Amino acid sequence: MQKSVILKRGKEESLLRFHPWVFSGAIADIKGEPDEGDVVDVYTHDGKWIAVGHIQVGSIAVRVLSFKQEKIDADFWFRRLSVAFEMRSSLGLTDREDHNIYRLVHGEGDNLPGLVIDVYGHTAVLQAHSVGMHCNRMDIAQALMRVMGDRIKGIYYKSETTLPFKADIDRGNGYILGGPTDDTPLEYGMKMPVDWISGQKTGLFIDQRENRALLERYSKGRSVLNMFCYTGGFSLAALRGGAKLVHSVDSSARAIELTAGGVEDNFPGDTRHAAFAEDAFKYLERMDPIYDLIILDPPAFAKHKDALKHALIGYRRLNQKAMEKIKPGGILFTFSCSQVVSKDQFRTAVFTAAAQAGRSVKILYQLHQPADHPINIFHPEGEYLKGLVVSVE
Ligand code: SAH
Repeated sequence: MQKSVILKRGKEESLLRFHPWVFSGAIADIKGEPDEGDVVDVYTHDGKWIAVGHIQVGSIAVRVLSFKQEKIDADFWFRRLSVAFEMRSSLGLTDREDHNIYRLVHGEGDNLPGLVIDVYGHTAVLQAHSVGMHCNRMDIAQALMRVMGDRIKGIYYKSETTLPFKADIDRGNGYILGGPTDDTPLEYGMKMPVDWISGQKTGLFIDQRENRALLERYSKGRSVLNMFCYTGGFSLAALRGGAKLVHSVDSSARAIELTAGGVEDNFPGDTRHAAFAEDAFKYLERMDPIYDLIILDPPAFAKHKDALKHALIGYRRLNQKAMEKIKPGGILFTFSCSQVVSKDQFRTAVFTAAAQAGRSVKILYQLHQPADHPINIFHPEGEYLKGLVVSVE
């Protein structure tokens, strides 16, 4: 029997507006006994076909792959990945000498819910966030090789921590096609330390690329604190921009090691940089007020809606501390990557921080995720990274 999902009456509304999720509460019946991760057809209560997608246990029951009646086969993956690649090409991100890092597939933003593919030189890191993408990983990898040709020599699968932990699947990380290469990942000419085997995300926060480029322009002659530095991307940008000194802080010793390595690779023997493995709040508490450019790029404080209130308090406290200590005329780059925190809520948290710190604060820039992390207009939840650049009197 055909594997399918029948919606309750009226529950097709969001699908008619091309929102790519079916919540479990919208489902009246499941036919054909699909396994978790299978491709299923979605029908309205009165039997009209409406979408095809991956089924999964949990609140998001189906992630839609297509609103057109098409087979989810090798050619489907080839077509979708080709569209994604063409877009990155037209953005000028592919085939450059000085730059070889970009996000090729950004889940819903590329009409491929549950799939992330990042490119680092000749390596692609493929990450499944849904069981369906995990099940289809070899088809996707093969289609990716077809699309990329000799641009890619190895595909590393890294989904151990991103798949639902309850799913009954073999989730090992490793190369699934080709193998390691020895090329250097480059971001606008900078050698980036990227550890896709044991690092966070796929190895680098590619999503801060354009914001790092902006920071570079404001670094000249400044004393910079890069808080939550991870692999130190903002520190490298500040050093290249001519900062007087750069201090990088992260609670993870491994992050500090990667940052120090990246600085040594790009600026051997440069004494302007120092890195500290320390908790952000403790550091902000004890530090001398010597900085006139501070970056705050913490991990997502809220991963779920129920954590929202605490997250907003966290953002407020963090920003307040930085604003109390930043030198007059200083610039603060402050970010939130929590999907559940809206742009307005984040801005309110920064507003409250400014008021409580008693400083006059002006917004210079409102930042967001870059073009290779597109937002599907039908899926506003995809807008996750927001940032403010403020000047503090
Ligand atoms: N700005 C980075 C990405 C930051 S990711 C970049 O451009 O690449 C968030 C980082 O915050 C992680 O490296 C994590 O180790 C660190 N972190 C989490 N909690 C922390 C804390 N309490 N104090 C300091 N660092 C913390």
